[in-house]
Order: sequence, then C-alpha cells, then structure tokens
Amino acid sequence: MLESGLLQENIDSTIRKVLQSGPQGPSGKLTGAASRILQKAQGFYKSCMNETDIAEIGHTPLYKELQDLFTTVFPVQHGSLISLFPDAAPPSAELLNATNRERLTSAMAHLYRSSALTILSFWVNPDERNPEVQQLWVLRDNPAIPDRVFLEEAPILAKYRKAIEETYTLVFGQSEGGAKFASDVIALETMIANFSRAAAGGDAATTSQHVSPTDLNKLYPSLDWPVLLQKMLQGTNVTHDDNRALHSLTPSHLEGLDKLFRETPAATLQKYFAWMMIFSRRSLLPIEYREPIDRILRELEGVVNPDITPDRWQTCVDSTSANLASIIGHFYVAQMFSAATKDQVQTIVSGIRDAYRSDFQELGWLDKTTRANAITKLDAMIELIGYSTMDPNVGSAKDLDAYYAAVKITTESGGDYYDNMAQAKAHVIRSMLTQLGQPPNRDQMGMDPQYVNAYYNPFLNHFAVLAGIVQPPKFTPNAPEYLNFAALGMVAGHEIGHGFDNSGRRYDATGKLFDWWTNATATEFESRTKCFIDQYANFTVTGPDGKILHTNGVQTLGENIADNGGSRISFMAWAKRFTTDRLSQKYNNKLLPGVRLSHLSREQLFFISFGQSWCRLRTPTFLANQIRDDEHSPSHARVNGVMQNSREFARAFRCRRNSFMNPVNKCEIW
Ligand SMILES: [Zn+2]
Repeated sequence: MLESGLLQENIDSTIRKVLQSGPQGPSGKLTGAASRILQKAQGFYKSCMNETDIAEIGHTPLYKELQDLFTTVFPVQHGSLISLFPDAAPPSAELLNATNRERLTSAMAHLYRSSALTILSFWVNPDERNPEVQQLWVLRDNPAIPDRVFLEEAPILAKYRKAIEETYTLVFGQSEGGAKFASDVIALETMIANFSRAAAGGDAATTSQHVSPTDLNKLYPSLDWPVLLQKMLQGTNVTHDDNRALHSLTPSHLEGLDKLFRETPAATLQKYFAWMMIFSRRSLLPIEYREPIDRILRELEGVVNPDITPDRWQTCVDSTSANLASIIGHFYVAQMFSAATKDQVQTIVSGIRDAYRSDFQELGWLDKTTRANAITKLDAMIELIGYSTMDPNVGSAKDLDAYYAAVKITTESGGDYYDNMAQAKAHVIRSMLTQLGQPPNRDQMGMDPQYVNAYYNPFLNHFAVLAGIVQPPKFTPNAPEYLNFAALGMVAGHEIGHGFDNSGRRYDATGKLFDWWTNATATEFESRTKCFIDQYANFTVTGPDGKILHTNGVQTLGENIADNGGSRISFMAWAKRFTTDRLSQKYNNKLLPGVRLSHLSREQLFFISFGQSWCRLRTPTFLANQIRDDEHSPSHARVNGVMQNSREFARAFRCRRNSFMNPVNKCEIW
C-alpha cells in the first residue's frame, strides 16, 4: 500500500511544528532523554534550513570526498579526474599498481558505506529458505534516473546531459571536459539500463538466486566478493562466512554487471563513481547544485508544475523524517496517535482477522488440507499497530536516546548539514548490518509511523498499520463503525490479503518459501486469478499525449487480490458486529444526520466511505507512470474493480443486473 498527498501533508505540518517549536500540548518542557532526542532532530532540521551556511560552505566537503575517491579508493593511471585537483597528493604507487579488480572491489564497498548510489545495494533480510536467520541480499541499487530515460526518452535524456555538464562545471570549476564527462557517464548508465532490462525479462522462473561469495568469485570474477563483504562490514563486529549463501540478483543480471566491469576503461568507471557521489550528495549542497537534477526528477514524477521548487521547510521535514526516522516517529505518535485510537484500530483489526478465519472455513473451493494450512498461517500472522515497540521502541524516548547515541548531530553552527547527514546515514547502515546472521525480530516494525502506509512482509508473516494512515478519511475517532471498517478495515484486510495473494501464498506461516497448497486447490487459485487479470485490463487512463493506456492485469494482480479480499472481508467483519447490535447500543452504527446524508443506508455509506478513501487527483504523466511501473491499479480501478465484484455493493445500490457496476461475471478469491 502506498499513499501520499493531503494525508502526508497533515503529518508533515505536525512534524514541522515539532521541529520548529517542540511538541505542543500539556506535556510542558521536555527533560532527559526526550529533550536529547528532540535536540538531535531539531539540530538536524536547523542545519538543513540554514541555507546561508550551506551556500557559504559550497561544495567543499564534496570536493574532499571526490579527492579521496580519486586518490585512496579508485585512482587510475590514465585520464584520472585527479588532474582537476592541483593540490592533491598523488595516489600511492601501491594503489596505482593494484589490479582493476582490487580497486573496483574497494570502490563498491566505499560507495556503499558512504551511502552513495552504486550499481549494487546490500540489505539484510530473512533467508526465505530458513527465515530464522537473516542473510545478506544483494540487489540492484536505484539508478540515478529511471532506466526508461536512457532507453526511450531522448528529450529528458538531453536535459539530464545538460544537468550533468552544468554540475560538472560547478564542482570542478571549469567547463572543459564536461561534455565528455557527461557522455561517458550516460553511456555507462545506458549499458546498465540495457542489461538490467534484459535481465528483468530473462530468468523467467526466478527473480533471485542463493549463492556464496566463493561461488560468486568463480562466476563473476570482476569483483572479489569475499573481500567486498569484508570491507563493507568493517567496524560492525559482524563477519560473513565466504561459503554462506547470499540472496542475490539473477545470473543474467550479474553476467551483465561482470561484463560491464570487464569491458569499461578504468577512467570511465572513475567518472561514473564520481557522478554517483555528486548525485547522491546534491541535496546537501547549495541550490544551484541540486536544482538542475531535482527539476528533472519532478518532471519525471509528473508533479503539476516541475518548475516550482518545493519550500525548503518541506525538503527539510522530509529529510529529517527519513534520516532520524524513529525520533520523528516518536513525536508524531505522542502528538497524534492516542492509546484510545490505538484501541479502536485494534478492534477493527481483530474483527478483520476473525472474518478472514470464517471466510477460510467456509470457502468451497479450498480443500481440507489447504484450508487448514491457510488458517494456520493466518493465526500465526503478527499484527503491528501504530508504531514499533521494539528495536527501537518508538514510544520510548529512553530507548531512542540509546538507539541514536552514536549519531552525533552538530548544532553549534548551522552549516553541518553535510556531516549530520553522514552521521545519520552511517547509523542506518550500521544498524542494519549488525542484524546479519541474527534471527529476525518479527515484532519489529519495518517502517516508521509518520507515513501514510501499511504493509505485509511475507518473510516475517507480519503486517503493520502505521499511525500515519490512521486519520480521516481512512479513520475518524468515534465515527460510525461502517465508515471506519470500510476505509481502515479495508487497509488491514488488504495487508492480510497479501499473505494469500499470488506471491504471498508461496510462503508458509513461518515465512519460509514452502508450497502448502494441494495441486487441485492451487490450480483453482490460478484459474481464479485469470478472472482478475482480464477484469483489470479493462480499466484505462489517458496519458499526457492523449493516448489511452490499459492497466496491466498481471502486474497489478497481487494488489487487486488484496483489494478485493480486503474490502469483502471488511464488509463481512462490520456486518457481523452490526448484526449483534442493531440498535447501536454497544457500537456506534448510527446513521448520518443532514438532508444530504440521512437517506443513505449504512451499507451504502460503507461503500461510499471505501470509495472516498481512494479519492485522488493525478496528472496524466503520473497516471502513465503508474500504469507502467506501479503494482497498484489507478485508484478509480481500485474502487470500481472491487465494487464490480461485490454482491453487497450491487444489493446496497440496487444496481441493474449486468450493468457496468454489476457484471454477471464476478471475480473472487478471498
Ligand atoms: Zn498492497
């Protein structure tokens, strides 16, 4: 599930107040741990807001990082960018004589550890073959700009080229060499985009593989994999056994990477690494360094007017929220997520779980074995509501004070944003890497509460409803239950549904990749998915060029299964409670007042609330991006697709049989 827009704006304005003037309300002046963590967040925010100091410092810290990159990490013999640093000491002969493989390995580890984009990214997640242990996952790192720009969007690519040249001139103090720099970088990024796209279409049966660093060395020798991991893990007190499997990219993806490393001249790779460093640091630099790229990214996203630079406070709230995430979460929760609200959400979630259980017990197409296994998985599923209470406990200032103890935020002068960011990012990586080899904590939430979101994690078999999504129109405290079940209950139902969608169903109650379905029931499931694939392919949006684009029923299948199950089950859960209390003596199910609302039945209002909670206003570019890249259907399809399948909806609004909203052929899994 992913949300943004007005609901996130509400959250951000609360966070902004906390960062500017401390928490509001009766708690008075904070002391001890609470005061220390608040100071950290406020110091970080202040350093981001201090554009005067940021302008004065300019690119000095970046310049130093680049110089290090060219002298101590990835020096090259011929054509090195170090010639642009007249005062730099020359690289040591030993480094210059090191093999390309040794230097590449160092560079990849260095860029990863300093939170700059590289070609690979490393994560710690449960091993899907044995989810009791966490292993290293090697995935592709995000590209600077989307692959499609290199492959098929020449006008944007031209802007990107110009932005690289402009930035080059700013950073290196001369325009000479800028055009060649941009060309070399773009040529390399285009190669990466090409083999990544080919790899995404290939290896059809698998999206990953399990392979040890020792074997990676034999297969893809351009990097020294055991050494790469050693260097990455330096200073973490964690080591990686060379024979222990990693969860890694597919063979064809790694072959593409290996070939790239073997065939690209060292000087070109150096330029690419330099650009990745510059690109990754641009948000810490004065506006003229960041705006050329940021404008392109806004245009790609499809924001209404990409020429408008967001207010600085918005950028700094986003940055503080992302980089000192649990501290911000703490103050958000303290202010906006009361214990009473948590109780109400808990009641809804429990109702949804019970309704899923009844559904599993009753569905005719599940055979006995699969039914029992589905119920076992549902019962084992852990629910996390609001915020993480472990590792760290976001509700406890003391816990957070200890958790962030190593993060030194310098607040004396405002111009330490560059250092503050390095501190915060290093902490995020360190915290993750120290989990390697440990059992996962299934009670730890994988997101911080100040986001409008909810998720299901198949390896942990847990789902979370974040505090940030618990606000109108998804949830209104003490509002009639039919409204809250329809909107927020559907969110919980959607996430539980992911445990039983086309990919989640492959994992068992413990998070292990294990087939717990009988053949006959699995076949029936597959045939039911076809119904959804065909149905959703009928929904369209209009792109920026006026072209009609169809939703991809295969790409959105998992989300559509979750939406349909989530909504149907949330109606069941609400109806069951209402049936036991038709006079609203225990639960609030009173009808709404007012001339325009009082004639509507509870059932009608249930579906109106569901529809309203997905109301969105999008630009054509955004919609075209969504159709191409997103696993979620566009919101009108998320609402109408589900309603077309709902008998309760058709009954509530007396839809004519076989009308658009009440087709005879209905798709149903959960
Ligand atoms: Zn989802």
